[in-house]
Amino acid sequence: MAMQTTSPVLLSIEVLIYVVLMLQVLLRRQIEEVEEYLLAYLGLSLILILLWLTRLTIHAMPMPPVEAIVSWTKVVPALAFGALTMAFVRQTRWAPAWLMGSVGLFALSVALQFGWPLEGPVVALIIRVLLWSLALGGATAIVLSTYRRQTSPLHRNRLHYWLVILVLLASAEGMSLGTGFVVQAASRVLRWAAAGLATYAILQVHAPDLRTLVRVALRFLALTGMLSLIFFGILTAVQRVGWPTITQRGSLLLTSLIALVMAILLPGLLNLSGDVLSRLIFGAAYDEQEVVRHYSQSVSNILDIDRLAAAAFDVISQVFNLQHGALVLIQSTGTGHSTMLPVRGHGNVSTQLLEVETFGTLMNRFRQGTPFAQYDIDMLPAYRRIPETERQWSNDMQMELFVPIRSQDEVIGLLALGPRRSGEPFRRNDLNLLSTLADQTVPALKNAQMVQDMRRLNLDISQLNTELESMNRTKTDFIGITSHELRTPLSQVSGYSEILAEELGANSPLSAFVDGLVKGTARLTEIVEVMLDVSRLDVGKLTLKRMSVDLHHVIQGAAEEWTQALQERGHTLIVEGLEALPTLEGDQERLQQVFSQLINNAIKYTPDGGLIEITGQGHAESSGLFVEVIVEDNGIGIDQDDQHRIFDKFYRTGDLMKHSTGKTKFKGAGPGLGLSLAKGIIDAHSGRVWVESRGHDEESCPGSSFHVLLPVRPPGYKPEMADTIVRRGSLGKWGSP
Ligand code: ADP
Repeated sequence: MAMQTTSPVLLSIEVLIYVVLMLQVLLRRQIEEVEEYLLAYLGLSLILILLWLTRLTIHAMPMPPVEAIVSWTKVVPALAFGALTMAFVRQTRWAPAWLMGSVGLFALSVALQFGWPLEGPVVALIIRVLLWSLALGGATAIVLSTYRRQTSPLHRNRLHYWLVILVLLASAEGMSLGTGFVVQAASRVLRWAAAGLATYAILQVHAPDLRTLVRVALRFLALTGMLSLIFFGILTAVQRVGWPTITQRGSLLLTSLIALVMAILLPGLLNLSGDVLSRLIFGAAYDEQEVVRHYSQSVSNILDIDRLAAAAFDVISQVFNLQHGALVLIQSTGTGHSTMLPVRGHGNVSTQLLEVETFGTLMNRFRQGTPFAQYDIDMLPAYRRIPETERQWSNDMQMELFVPIRSQDEVIGLLALGPRRSGEPFRRNDLNLLSTLADQTVPALKNAQMVQDMRRLNLDISQLNTELESMNRTKTDFIGITSHELRTPLSQVSGYSEILAEELGANSPLSAFVDGLVKGTARLTEIVEVMLDVSRLDVGKLTLKRMSVDLHHVIQGAAEEWTQALQERGHTLIVEGLEALPTLEGDQERLQQVFSQLINNAIKYTPDGGLIEITGQGHAESSGLFVEVIVEDNGIGIDQDDQHRIFDKFYRTGDLMKHSTGKTKFKGAGPGLGLSLAKGIIDAHSGRVWVESRGHDEESCPGSSFHVLLPVRPPGYKPEMADTIVRRGSLGKWGSP
């Protein structure tokens, strides 16, 4: 029987090799991640080996005969191989059952050695055969089921190696049952070969493609076969003819003849094996330059990301016959993270967005620029610690290869390729071609991304616009409603306070309070009136009563309103050169309101004792005659940034809290509606208003000058036209309904 010829030393080495292999697998999977039962199994095997080694060295121990021990320790490799296979394919579903079974069998073996109740060695042999059958059968089932689920050729290649190991081991164990030195030796050689291959498969992550190796060997054999056939064919033919008789010269001639024929046929044969067999080995060939040309033509000038992905994978999936593929967009979010968004290119693709660290393991790998296989993420220790979300994402994508698209060291995208329908792996040539295609994608991808960004921005802007419009509407409604609502109670308060003042007379001790009441309500009424006007402007219902207007007269009227304030504040007002101005068509009252506002502002924003000058001049322009009036002061001036905004509703410069509410006091700002109303009125006259100032400075007082430009005859004006309702959006058109 086999056990009689087994050397204990050889067997112990064998057992040790299995344990070391198992340790390797466990370490590769990171010891802390491995399920407890695998660890328990490892411990059990080690104890078994220690026991056995102890028995080998200490012969005096009261133990069963060496043969029996040798026999039962032979179960160790079977048990270890089962566990090893489970760890190798990462399929530990059966591991607990396997462990329980092993423990049971181990206990049985131990019982048998002590002669209870059966004859030890024979039963031990049965157990061994059983166990090996179970181990090899189980391992084959596990490997095949994993193989079926696996689409990646790289993973499948790894399993190919394990299938070869299974065949080797099955043969070895089968042979070990036989007798005779040769059979035993052959069994041992096969077992060592299996162990060696297992070590290689475990340690070598990128083992050469086994199918390719087999095909190359086949090609070699086919070529050799064809050449031998030719050789022997000629030789036999020549011998049949009987010429030349085999002299030295004759045989020299014959071999030269054969060599000549072979030399003539060889290129053809090489071509045949090259064409036919290469096609078998490497799949359909492609013309690299043609592919690149076709690809760059297809992707150029596409500005839409979806169309770009489809066009790119139209070419790529044709060349490689892919199951599916996607263009992954990578964009930095600016917070140390980047988003990866797959866009479907071909077949079914998960288009889930992933956020990764910009300088995390995955992105750093992409940054290297070379193609990167999903297999590497699964297998290489460097990627063991990538976050679970990233691992899940790449698993869901079911891709085989990622080819980074880089622009100036920055990864802007990936070509993500699914497995090929042929099940072939991507070879070095393919990777080179794909890198070139990725480079060709850069300009198109950048353009498409830019367009996408712009679209998004447009969307944001239009959303913002809608919000602003709604806010503006609310503001308009607010002014309209409050001013209307305030008017009635205000007129009551104002009426009653005036009656009260009259009744009390000037000598009453309360007259100062009542006086304050009257002034306060008057100011309030003015503000409400302005608010009402502004709301009329907003809803396009400010009516202009047009007539011939003498601006000199209008401005004098406006100035007279402020005589007292000018005196109080010690300002000098000079009005010059207005008499010569032509009369214009406009609303006298509204224009007086405009200039009154400008004079009021000049009074307010100029320190006491200031100078206010109003000048005017006529302009003849191609579009007609214009009048320009300038209201200039030597006050605090206006910042460049504020100059166009002061005409907005409610816009006031400086510290709002410091504004006083007085109407003519220094810096006594109002609600910020005066200039907005003035501009509305001037616009309604098809005129223009703007301000010029060197800036705001309360020390040096650079002053401001407000320019009002009014057309003498507004465009489209016809004298017989009635009062015009000024509508928003058509303010510039005089006479529009
Ligand atoms: P307000 O009712 O606050 O005076 P306006 O619409 O009349 O509102 O003016 C808006 C803002 O423009 C004022 O708050 C003020 O800061 C600035 N401003 C207007 N006129 C002058 C001026 N002549 N000199 C300096 N600042 C001015």
